[in-house]
Order: sequence, then C-alpha cells, then structure tokens
Amino acid sequence: MPGVYILEWRNGRKETIFGGRGYYYVFPNETLLSFPPVPSWCRHCERITLCEHLRAEDEIRHELTDLDIPTSAISQSVAKSPVTGFGGTWRKRLEVELQQAMIRRLLPSCLTCGQREVSYFKEREWSTHPKTGEEVLFHLSGMCSTSFAIKFYDVEGNLLDLSDEKRKILMDMVKARKDV
Ligand SMILES: [Zn+2]
Repeated sequence: MPGVYILEWRNGRKETIFGGRGYYYVFPNETLLSFPPVPSWCRHCERITLCEHLRAEDEIRHELTDLDIPTSAISQSVAKSPVTGFGGTWRKRLEVELQQAMIRRLLPSCLTCGQREVSYFKEREWSTHPKTGEEVLFHLSGMCSTSFAIKFYDVEGNLLDLSDEKRKILMDMVKARKDV
C-alpha cells in the first residue's frame, strides 16, 4: 500500500502527496526489493517531488541488531504484527536493503526527472523550503489503495529499459509476491 503524505506550512496551508507504489530495485541476481519513495526537494524540478530515500548502512545495521534484542522497540512492534513470520520477512528485507547500501554509489534520484539533486526533509521536523524559505513539515498520514504503474530500477536508481520478455518475468515475480 502506498503512503499518503501531508506537507504542512506554518501558515496552515496543507498539500497532499500520494506516495505511489510499484517501485522496485532489480538486483543483478534478480532479487526484487520494493521501495517507498518519499517527498523530497528536487533542485532540477524546482519542486517537492517523490524521490528515492536511501538509508545509511549504519542505520540499517542498527535495525538488524535491534531485531535480535527482544526488548527493543522494533522487536516489540514486530511481535505485535498479526502476520506470521513477519520478523523473518522484515529481517530479509533489511538484509537486502543493507546489501544495496553497500554497493550503491550514486546519489538518490528524483523519480520524476531522474536527476540526482535531491535534498531530504526529515519526517515530522520543520525544515526550510529550499526555494521559498518557508518552513515546511511532512508526515505520513495514512495509506491508500490506488494502483500505480510498476517501475523497475537498477540498484543505482536508473530506470531499466526492459525487453517485453524480461518485463513479463519481473511482473510475474511481483504478482507472485516474490519481492522482499
Ligand atoms: Zn526532479
């Protein structure tokens, strides 16, 4: 399910951004990692757009370590999940995310224009809008079930130009939920 983000300005103005779904990294060994883009500032588009959000290796390693500590916040929230084996699924996903963080060389890209001049905002933290200087805050407000086109990227965030045959193979994997 894609996220719905709300951007708020100090004067009370609000804007909704639909997070979209259907974004996947395709690893050379064909592992598929879904990723949720987040609203960020793209200097090339000169607006807030959906961009890749790359996490640092340390942050991911930290989460993996926390999964082994039953009293950690992450273990406790995993334990509350009604989905059987959710902890294992989450661990697998973190391991693949870590793999990507270790091989990734390029900066995060804007998913609208593909350029890599992106500045993140921190969720729920007032930050200065790079163009207008106004303060803006974004947060995830919920989920929506709208369907979106599926897009495949290499691990560096380059949109893949796929043959029909290759695309069908990947789409079949998505339908069979073989992504992490
Ligand atoms: Zn852009």
